[in-house]
Amino acid sequence: MSRNDEWMQRDIASLWHPCTQMKDHETLPVTPIRRGRGVWLEDFDGRRYLDAVSSWWVNIFGHANERINARIRDQLDSLEHVILSGFTHQPVIELSERLGRLTPAGLGHCFYADNGSAAVEIALKMSYHYWHNVGRPEKRRFLTITNGYHGETLGALSVGDVAIFTETYRSLLLDVLKVPAPDGFGLPREQWIDEAWEKFAHMEAALERHHHELAAVIVEPLIQCAGGMRMYPPEYLTWLREACDRYNVQLIFDEIAVGFGRTGTMFACEQASVRPDYLCLSKAITGGYLPLSVVMTTDEVYDAFYDDYASLRAFLHSHSYTGNPLACAAALATLDIFEQDSVIEANRAKAAHIERVTAPLRDHPHVGDVRQTGMVVAIEMVRDRATLEPYDFRERRGLRVFQHAMSRGAMLRPLGNVIYWMPPYVIEPEEIDFLAEVTREGLEIATGD
Ligand SMILES: *Cc1c(COP(=O)(O)O)cnc(C)c1O
Repeated sequence: MSRNDEWMQRDIASLWHPCTQMKDHETLPVTPIRRGRGVWLEDFDGRRYLDAVSSWWVNIFGHANERINARIRDQLDSLEHVILSGFTHQPVIELSERLGRLTPAGLGHCFYADNGSAAVEIALKMSYHYWHNVGRPEKRRFLTITNGYHGETLGALSVGDVAIFTETYRSLLLDVLKVPAPDGFGLPREQWIDEAWEKFAHMEAALERHHHELAAVIVEPLIQCAGGMRMYPPEYLTWLREACDRYNVQLIFDEIAVGFGRTGTMFACEQASVRPDYLCLSKAITGGYLPLSVVMTTDEVYDAFYDDYASLRAFLHSHSYTGNPLACAAALATLDIFEQDSVIEANRAKAAHIERVTAPLRDHPHVGDVRQTGMVVAIEMVRDRATLEPYDFRERRGLRVFQHAMSRGAMLRPLGNVIYWMPPYVIEPEEIDFLAEVTREGLEIATGD
């Protein structure tokens, strides 16, 4: 028995894996990873896999990054954790100051948690509570776009719209308003703006009709990641900010997946030159090392909670590991790397390379769309290229791509029929070429009948 097999058997006997039909593992083994270095993961039998999905979109500077390792080790020797209520520490203060300088002006108040879903819950509760505190308690509903994803807890699921995650729990969820998403699926990029403008009419109409009862609009800026890497242009965000101001509705940007350089700018909202009322960040914030999330908000929101204790206007939300010092230290090391290595500029050449090598896939008879924003590229497989008719999800075409890629030493993990790359930024040109080769082969195998 190989060492992999041994670990696999012990795993299946004791674990229940996230986002997994466990029965699949009767035929499709879990892969035990022994170590990681840079973009590569290695299993117990010594096989290597290129981590093309950044270990669920979190790892941007590679596994076992020396600079992040060193910073965490340092922190470990002084303070591993302390309660953040009534106490504070150096890494969390420095991180808050730096995030304030990096994000659009005016988001000077950082509220921490330990995962993305918790950040979304915080933003939703804060917005609801804000309107309560300013004497508009009737403003308690949320508006969003279809096909969004904001996490798995009940509030976050409520504002999400990816059916496989939400449908089962429908009767437990908040009653949230949804208007059609503005993405440019199947359209050439020149037409994205027109498409987004057409869809914006629905947003405008919903705001006009419901603003009196709306607390906030929540969206994933530029890329709806879990919804299949659907992309839309920054103009939509500009229009949305303007309309939210006009109708006195708050705006929540969930940049949990796209923040920290993924879309080609440090934060996606920069491309629209707008500031949300709440900016949710997580995932890559620690370079993919430790769980941490933050909701950044404005003086206006902060001030609506600021009062004498007995007024009972405080935001009494907390999590045990809020603002964990080790996680904050990893985040500081991550921000140092952005500065020292001019990462945003360096990524431009890599993104251009990705665009070059994926362009030929557009001609494949079962590719309906190849789209890219910064360091994310998605290749959507369709049954019929002319009508964009999708493959039935039961055919599990994406799974075939996954299996082929694993056999070739790449970890590609399609979302349904959407093959995507969301690699660590430290990926090298020849590794990008290798991914292109594996993707082309996987596509042939997955669509070859
Ligand atoms: C992953 C994700 C979340 C949820 O974050 P978790 O840490 O997995 O709870 C929320 N919003 C977006 C856009 C995400 O991609």
